[in-house]
Amino acid sequence: MSKKTALITGITGQDGYHLSKFLYEEKGYEVFGIIRGQNNPRYEQVKKELPFVKLIEADLMDVSSLYHAIYSVSPDEIYNLGAISFVEYSFKNPILTADVTAKGVINLLEAIRITGFEKKIRYYQASSSEMFGGTSYNRPEKGYNEESLFHPRSPYGVAKLYGHWITKNYRESYDMYAVSGILFNHEGEHRGEEFVTRKISKAVARISLGLQEKIELGDLWPKRDWGYAGDYVKGMWLMLQQDKADDYVLATGETHSIEDFLDLAFAEIGIKDWKPYIVRNEAFTRPAEVDLLLGDPAKAERELGWKREVNFSDLVSLMVQHDLKEQSKLNGIE
Ligand code: GDP
Repeated sequence: MSKKTALITGITGQDGYHLSKFLYEEKGYEVFGIIRGQNNPRYEQVKKELPFVKLIEADLMDVSSLYHAIYSVSPDEIYNLGAISFVEYSFKNPILTADVTAKGVINLLEAIRITGFEKKIRYYQASSSEMFGGTSYNRPEKGYNEESLFHPRSPYGVAKLYGHWITKNYRESYDMYAVSGILFNHEGEHRGEEFVTRKISKAVARISLGLQEKIELGDLWPKRDWGYAGDYVKGMWLMLQQDKADDYVLATGETHSIEDFLDLAFAEIGIKDWKPYIVRNEAFTRPAEVDLLLGDPAKAERELGWKREVNFSDLVSLMVQHDLKEQSKLNGIE
């Protein structure tokens, strides 16, 4: 049998990294990644970290570039991981967020349809737990599932909801194998440094090495269902290997506050009382906060046989240990 081919948007992001490695190393895929813009500074980084990925220039905001990418690769599977994905940034840039995170999805789906490949290509849409919004009135006791009510609380969440529904609509209208994975927060050593988990793991490592004194943070009480990105990309792939296209929640079924994350991260460097190291900065609070996210992955566990492997404390430990090594190396500390 010939090799399967995957085309991934968002190849420079955390999930692009884990997914392309998984598809290439464990599943034997030929992997193509879409990269945006002339002289993208992340081009060299991807070439170095993921030398097996064939890079193609295209842009989620430019349907003709997507058409050309799809037509030339003729992939078996497309994973749309590309988006403006940072909630805080989406409040400051709501229109750009709509253009990329919402309209980018219809551009990609239309490009698939224009090529006439809509019956051949299996399409994965990266939907998000931010679509639920974490308000108390729509929160089921066991956590959000595929049937839960949406109430996004940020321009990012609203844009993702458009992507979610248009994916369903193309599945129903054109009989496409198009699925949405509603993924709860997933972190790891490749998480962007603007997200709170990586911001903390990096700062804790630097504090331990004497390179930094304090961490500036916003609200510490919000709770998230945090899993490991390496586990979640396997779920993405599984969603595209079923007889019938359907949507699935991927989550750990546990929720923890930022304070819980701080407890474990500082414990990793032998500090019990982390409060003296924290400085509150209003700039890191949001106009509307998502109080608590908890997902119920029962359907994915039952139908896909998916289960997260890395638990919360292992995740925090893995991230701090990685950053200790990385910061030591970067700063020439033995
Ligand atoms: P999100 O769930 O996609 O918004 O992921 P983030 O990692 O960006 O934020 C998780 C939670 O941490 C949110 O409730 C933020 O308000 C909270 N938070 C508190 N301080 C910070 C901070 O300094 N940076 C970020 N990114 N989030 C913070």
